[in-house]
Amino acid sequence: MANPSLLILAGDGIGPEVMTEVKKIIDWFGTKRGIAFDVSEDLVGGCAYDAHGTPLTDATMAKALAVDAVLLGAVGGPKYDNLDFSVKPERGLLRLRKEMDLYSNLRPAQCFDALADFSSLKREIVAGLDIVIVRELTSGIYFGEPRGIITEGNERVGINTQRYTESEIARVARSAFELARRRNNKVCSMEKANVMESGILWRQVVQEVHDKDYPDVELSHMYADAGAMQLTRWPKQFDVIVTDNLFGDMLSDLAAMLTGSLGMLPSASLGAPAANGRPKALYEPVHGSAPDIAGQGKANPIACILSFAMALRYSFDLGDEASRVEQAVEKVLADGLRTADLMGPEGGTPVSTSAMGDAVVAA
Ligand code: ATP
Ligand code: MG
Repeated sequence: MANPSLLILAGDGIGPEVMTEVKKIIDWFGTKRGIAFDVSEDLVGGCAYDAHGTPLTDATMAKALAVDAVLLGAVGGPKYDNLDFSVKPERGLLRLRKEMDLYSNLRPAQCFDALADFSSLKREIVAGLDIVIVRELTSGIYFGEPRGIITEGNERVGINTQRYTESEIARVARSAFELARRRNNKVCSMEKANVMESGILWRQVVQEVHDKDYPDVELSHMYADAGAMQLTRWPKQFDVIVTDNLFGDMLSDLAAMLTGSLGMLPSASLGAPAANGRPKALYEPVHGSAPDIAGQGKANPIACILSFAMALRYSFDLGDEASRVEQAVEKVLADGLRTADLMGPEGGTPVSTSAMGDAVVAA
């Protein structure tokens, strides 16, 4: 069988810095475990604009569609702020998501024990937290028509439309149920069925998909505002949460920050399963290109490392290897290693990006 294939798009700012550390782990799997990946690398974002005048060339797009998984660093930076919208670095990422049809965005919020050392109350609430928010990524109010700013009488009106088709809801629900089966068989679906038509349909379709194909998974429904409250009050009651694009945007940021730093948070964006059973997939840290610390060796590589671990689990069926990577991260944190973003008020000496990566490899 062919080696699993991976396209690395390190991008801009700290993207290449954190990706360097992931490549050390990929090398480790090759030399120490005999697990070889066919790795290719290409440009995306500002660096692609500099080289080709576009944030994503057709050739790179074609490669992304051909591989088993794409691992992306980050795009953008102040250098590109004044570019025309059509060639902004972020457009490269949007094109990838759109053409790969990545409709299911998985955002884990996992609290590593070593980082739960805040107040005792906070510790009780977040220690051991391990949940995933599945956010619908390609439809809903961000894309619905009509949209725009129009003039009505003598004032302007801003319009967006929340629109979901049955099939759009069903496919993201499926992806959440599949995920739940790999985890703890529990899904909570969130919408506003009390005030929104799309919410009523959302609830119906999620329930139908459940009853037909996933009756073994425990399913509950919650209004998204109550969900926000419950996530803050007692997040450990949840395991997998599935929700729409807008609510998912907010709820995943909320859940993520329960766990600490932006530098710790991975994500996966998945599309439909292909003939080989593997979904189209793009993995990336939640953080951006962090221009304020780029080039200084300060970036925390863990978010990108954990994104690679998600790729091992969801694209390559290497769940044990993914756990090894996660345990290595847990160990270096327990050993007290901290990049600058993880330093608490007690202070201490932060380690560099590469020292953190080396320690994870060693662990
Ligand atoms: P984007 O618009 O690309 O999402 P952003 O404006 O949300 O970017 P980030 O680039 O994610 O911002 O950075 C936000 C803050 O978090 C910055 O101060 C940055 O230095 C810090 N930060 C982000 N990622 C990391 C990381 N991996 N390690 C350390 N600090 C980070
Ligand atoms: Mg951001």
